[in-house]
Amino acid sequence: MLTSDALQNLRTTLCDERDHLRRQLADLGVGGEGMAFDENFADSGQVAAEKGEHQVLANNLQEALADVDRALQKLDDGAYGRCEHCGVEIGEARLEAMPATRYCIDCATRR
Ligand SMILES: [Zn+2]
Repeated sequence: MLTSDALQNLRTTLCDERDHLRRQLADLGVGGEGMAFDENFADSGQVAAEKGEHQVLANNLQEALADVDRALQKLDDGAYGRCEHCGVEIGEARLEAMPATRYCIDCATRR
């Protein structure tokens, strides 16, 4: 069982992570509503390639942000620290390493 101190530390870590991800998304010109590309911009192959990489990066960041938001929501609900697959308590060391993780190590490696 996680102590309230441990939970507080994890919450702080998750909030920092969320701010960090939001900043990176803002740097990419992404708000909450998908990509903000100027569609009139020259449609050369290079631009398309950059756009593609940009999109992949933005998608990864948004997925990570969604996981962090979800973890914070679970902290509020008191549901934090349990595997979403098998319901087992996730080890504290794993949570400290990956606070936004949704699965215990067994389920994560089996997926
Ligand atoms: Zn599990």
